[in-house]
Amino acid sequence: MATKIQIRHTKIEIRKGKIAPASSIHAIRQPIVTVAGHVDHGKTTILDKIRGTCQVIKEPGRITQKISFTVVPRDVIRGCCKDLLDKYKIGLEILGFLFIDTPGHAAFTNIRKRGGALADLAILVVDINEGIMEQTKESIEVLKASKVPFIVALNKIDAITGWRKMSDNLVENIEKQSKHARDEFDKKAYQVVNSLTILGFDNDLFFRVGDFTKQIALVPCSGKTGEGISELLVMLAGLAQRFLKGKLEIGKEGRGTVLEVKREKGIMSVDAILYDGKISKNSHLVITTFTTPIVTKIRALLNALPCDKGFEAVDEVNAAAGIRLNLATTEDIIPGTSFVVTDPTKPGDVQNVQRFLQKEMKQTLHLDSEGIIAKADSLGSLEALLFLLRKSGIQVKKAEIGSIKNSDITMASTTEETMPLNAVIAGFNVEPEADIKINENVKIITGNVIYHIIEALVKWRKEKQLEIERDKLASLTMPGKIKLLPNACFRQSNPAIFGIKVEAGTIRPGVELINENGEEIDKIKGIQSESKSVEKALQGQEIAISLPNTTYGRQIKENQVLYIEIKEEEFRKLKENKKYLTASEISVLQEIANIKRKAKATWGI
Ligand code: GDP
Repeated sequence: MATKIQIRHTKIEIRKGKIAPASSIHAIRQPIVTVAGHVDHGKTTILDKIRGTCQVIKEPGRITQKISFTVVPRDVIRGCCKDLLDKYKIGLEILGFLFIDTPGHAAFTNIRKRGGALADLAILVVDINEGIMEQTKESIEVLKASKVPFIVALNKIDAITGWRKMSDNLVENIEKQSKHARDEFDKKAYQVVNSLTILGFDNDLFFRVGDFTKQIALVPCSGKTGEGISELLVMLAGLAQRFLKGKLEIGKEGRGTVLEVKREKGIMSVDAILYDGKISKNSHLVITTFTTPIVTKIRALLNALPCDKGFEAVDEVNAAAGIRLNLATTEDIIPGTSFVVTDPTKPGDVQNVQRFLQKEMKQTLHLDSEGIIAKADSLGSLEALLFLLRKSGIQVKKAEIGSIKNSDITMASTTEETMPLNAVIAGFNVEPEADIKINENVKIITGNVIYHIIEALVKWRKEKQLEIERDKLASLTMPGKIKLLPNACFRQSNPAIFGIKVEAGTIRPGVELINENGEEIDKIKGIQSESKSVEKALQGQEIAISLPNTTYGRQIKENQVLYIEIKEEEFRKLKENKKYLTASEISVLQEIANIKRKAKATWGI
């Protein structure tokens, strides 16, 4: 029989077997925190330092394997931050934090739970020496859209020239710096404040913030020396207590989000966050696979111990918790998707949840009837990719998790026939599969920074558009100008063969030449470059041409300039499409018009 003890509205159940850790037996859960920011700005190092604050309760011995989440209980925060909590008059109401550790996945900031972002709060890490970078902006966009309150960790202060750690109290330490180091710090911090202001955020260094509900606090820190880490935790606690009141109650239904999926020796192992309700070792789950949401039974339930001390097998866990599940399924589960604990004896309930999860996937990946193909490594990253593509006005027809396959190429190449600008596959954190058949009409753009993908896509589209428009002009004769090289006549007549330089435009066999008075000379029969026939010669090239009905020295002579004959109608069309001509082509076109107007003043007008 379970014994129930009631302490201030909080039920504690003591049972036979393992008991879930203290942090998970309250009717409210601890806030879930994500750490976001540009690559190499120090997300992992800061998280490691936060884990380091756990040393007080860590048993001697080495740290256990790295996992996707870290539970930092209230006692630990209280232990390392007592003076600061007193100073800032923050009574610690929260139960601690559950940090999600997703290095390398900027867009994991976006990881979801049912109806919103999984993270309740975020730490945005900015290297004070580098300032706001592309991935920082990406993270900000995603945090803004998902309305996740955040503080900024202004990391790597120790790398400021002349910086010395002289006190454990950050504010005191800043004040004690040499004038040079202090000036550097002020200058760099101001640059970040300024950049964030430009992005629309009222923000300041945390010790200058007057109203924490309106301003974003920047906490200078060092993941290396540990300076400012206590201040970071205290500010985070303050943020949680201001913004999350009433939002952390635990509901009845067990719900979670999948972070990582591994298959080892045929066993499907899933690291996940349980963000609501509870889950027990006998539970059944509805969980999303690459085909459809399925019902599966838990084979083993493990709970992450505080401060990365590994996992322990438990009978039951309450939210919020980092858990590892071994599942009785062979199907591939999609990282970033939701799961819900269900009762398989109630098929109606199961179907409702399945329908809901299916709908959620569709809504999440709301697609356009026309557009490009987007691929990413998890639901969170795919969503972030879609979100930022759309913000740049790029529509998406198909969005999928997984690497780029031949079927994507086939689909994109079909698009190419009608909408060539949509023949693009954008891959975020994914690459083409090894057996991919490259199709030159389909553009594949991959990367791990969404902004770079978008930039490359926009650039490619511009070039492609230009190419398409120029192709439309292909039926027209393009303007060009050549100059006969001195001492370069190889044959005088039948045909005349001689060296020329292309002064502007492009020349091809078949184009007609005129002289500076507008008199017709001949049609180019052939073009040779280094003794080989070529289909065209471009501006700047020196080549030989042949004219069948011309005698060198009679109609033409060395150093003479000849132009490509342009018909009046063609001239008008070229003028309309001037934006597709190069500056030198436009200038030659003008010269040709001037020549033609000597005979007919209204030519081409
Ligand atoms: P992440 O990509 O954002 O997770 O960045 P990491 O935590 O892997 O850090 C990237 C590099 O910056 C590593 O070489 C770290 O040792 C270094 N680094 C991180 N934090 C600090 C810091 O506070 N000071 C200094 N000097 N180096 C740091």
